[in-house]
Amino acid sequence: MSTVLTDIKNSFASIIKGLKVTAINWSFTRPCVTELYPEQKPELPEAYRGMPTLPVHPETGRSDCIACGACARMCPEEIITVEVDKSDPKDRKPAVFEIDISRCMFCGLCMEVCPKNCLRPARTFELATCTREGMVYGLEKLQELGGMLPPEPETKVVGNEKDTSPST
Ligand code: SF4
Ligand code: SF4
Repeated sequence: MSTVLTDIKNSFASIIKGLKVTAINWSFTRPCVTELYPEQKPELPEAYRGMPTLPVHPETGRSDCIACGACARMCPEEIITVEVDKSDPKDRKPAVFEIDISRCMFCGLCMEVCPKNCLRPARTFELATCTREGMVYGLEKLQELGGMLPPEPETKVVGNEKDTSPST
């Protein structure tokens, strides 16, 4: 009989302990950390690094890519395909630019080696598709995902050298 009473006492003690934890965490003073995704989009950190994309230049309306192929050679996964457009020798641009994002490990090496700094990380993460083929992004899609290139920092001329540090 005494064991039953002890069990009942322990059960009540456990319920009170549990309710205490609930009450502490339910307090209005604690900020809510739950995000109602997908209705509420999460705020991405400043340094968020998504998939590589090709933002378009505001003046030309297309990517600054010169189809040098450095990104394709650097990619450890060998998932970038670049073919140069030979129609105009004075205007070097890609005829084909594809990335198979399904195998991308977001290492950023392709973006680091780009001599034109035109391969930039996207600020999107909703890349789910129903097929593997849907994860192969072509030039048009990469430009669309990249959006517009941010404006260049103002250039100050100091003596004979150009200073590109942001003006205060
Ligand atoms: S982020 Fe890395 S794995 Fe992805 S395409 Fe660039 S180099 Fe390849
Ligand atoms: S490294 Fe840059 S410029 Fe060269 S092909 Fe890749 S994206 Fe284009």
